[in-house]
Amino acid sequence: KVRVRFAPSPTGPLHIGGVRTALFNYLFAKKHHGDFVLRIEDTDQNRYVEGAEDYIVKSLEWCGISFDEGPGTNETFGPYRQSERKDLYKQYADELIANGKAYYAFDTAEQLDAERKGHEAEGKTFIYNWHNREKGRLVNSLVLTEAETKAKIDAGEHYVVRFKSPQDETLHLKDIIRGDIKIDTNVLDDKILFKSDGMPTYHLANIVDDHLMEITHVIRGEEWLPSLALHQLLYDAFGWEAPEFAHLPLILKPTGKGKLSKRDGDKMGFPVFPLEYTAPDGTVSRGYKEDGYFPEAVVNFLAFLGWNPGTEQEIFSLEQLVADFDLARVNKAGARFDPDKTKWFNHHYMQQQLDLDLAEQFKAKNILLKDIDINYIALVVGLIKERAHFVSDFWELSHFFFIAPTSYDEKASKKALKEGTTELMTKVIELVNNTDVFTVENLQTNIKGWITDNNIGFGKVMMPLRLALVGALQGPDVFDIMFMIGKAETVKRIENIKN
Ligand code: GLU
Repeated sequence: KVRVRFAPSPTGPLHIGGVRTALFNYLFAKKHHGDFVLRIEDTDQNRYVEGAEDYIVKSLEWCGISFDEGPGTNETFGPYRQSERKDLYKQYADELIANGKAYYAFDTAEQLDAERKGHEAEGKTFIYNWHNREKGRLVNSLVLTEAETKAKIDAGEHYVVRFKSPQDETLHLKDIIRGDIKIDTNVLDDKILFKSDGMPTYHLANIVDDHLMEITHVIRGEEWLPSLALHQLLYDAFGWEAPEFAHLPLILKPTGKGKLSKRDGDKMGFPVFPLEYTAPDGTVSRGYKEDGYFPEAVVNFLAFLGWNPGTEQEIFSLEQLVADFDLARVNKAGARFDPDKTKWFNHHYMQQQLDLDLAEQFKAKNILLKDIDINYIALVVGLIKERAHFVSDFWELSHFFFIAPTSYDEKASKKALKEGTTELMTKVIELVNNTDVFTVENLQTNIKGWITDNNIGFGKVMMPLRLALVGALQGPDVFDIMFMIGKAETVKRIENIKN
């Protein structure tokens, strides 16, 4: 059975790249009728941020990406927070030491620094692996006797457990998206797996948990590709079968130059976080939700960051994505982030929403609509939503359905109000008053009929009429507006522009 996991570290808000990783895991799991697991990788206490886990869970929830197992949800393989699994990792570190795959190292930060500088001075790079580990000034259980090692540990000296990476081997790694990758083990350093404070590092905890949680496919960001060799070596060292791996392409800035960062959004004026985030220092970063995006639009646009269906189709619901998603169609090349495309998707999903639902959202945001009948608002929404990307655009597009213009656009007035306008408007008022059955069709027939019959020229009538109703020369159909605001209000507004 397919089992995948999303394994964020709660070090801050999840940005859109993290959500994309979660989404692709979710899609892959659901496509193969498998399980999607949420695991919180909180072993790095220094980088832990209060509230980050909650933010992650809420973000996934908002996007509709539900997990089958996770903290507090169906804990078959739990616990799902690594901090709560702490006691488990030491035995695995010990196991590797016992079978010679890992060793204790006691070097202090100063000693390591000195080594690094010493190498640099000779024009070399220092790598803590077979090149150096058994010679020079390094202090580890490979150069110490067993008794010396034990004495240091018993004396409470700080130590780390390092993985003993092999010398002169070529590793053949596989990635579903990138194909075969060859790595020379001589470039690998002996990564730290465990520390004397009782905490594992990411690498050890990640491998142990993926194994114990029976993860079959690891789908994660490209930034983890350099760790793949070590991870494969760890699986081999434990004698475990490794899962399959897929490293998703980077998400690039809108310019296409460089990786999209958490700060780019604020700098360039678009959100990069699913939900608004207030940092401990009080700075607020915009969120898609608060900016008025529909989760369907965000999911749809995220799916296209690295994946495409191979057809022209761009609109995909979550269900359709599950049906069509295929890791084989995920690109290696970085995916350019296009904030305008997100708006385009939002516009699309807005048209799919019920006018009444949009009306509720509109009303909730505007105090001026508080006493207005929701069905009237819904009718207005139906007339204007085609030109909106967000519910927050509605007021600008529709205020004249609710309140009479209080001022008239200067340029528009110059264009619309000419000699003779007053007389024409007097006639229009008469026509409006005489339209007993006040419908769009009747208004149209009466007013347009009069214009054609008298050869007046449409602009001469329609422009001042629109100006009177809207205050500018924009907006939906004039007859729709007249019908919506009613006869009395229509007459009143036209009166207002007659000098
Ligand atoms: N905790 C890692 C992260 O924050 C997980 C990487 C992985 O999926 O292996 O992205």
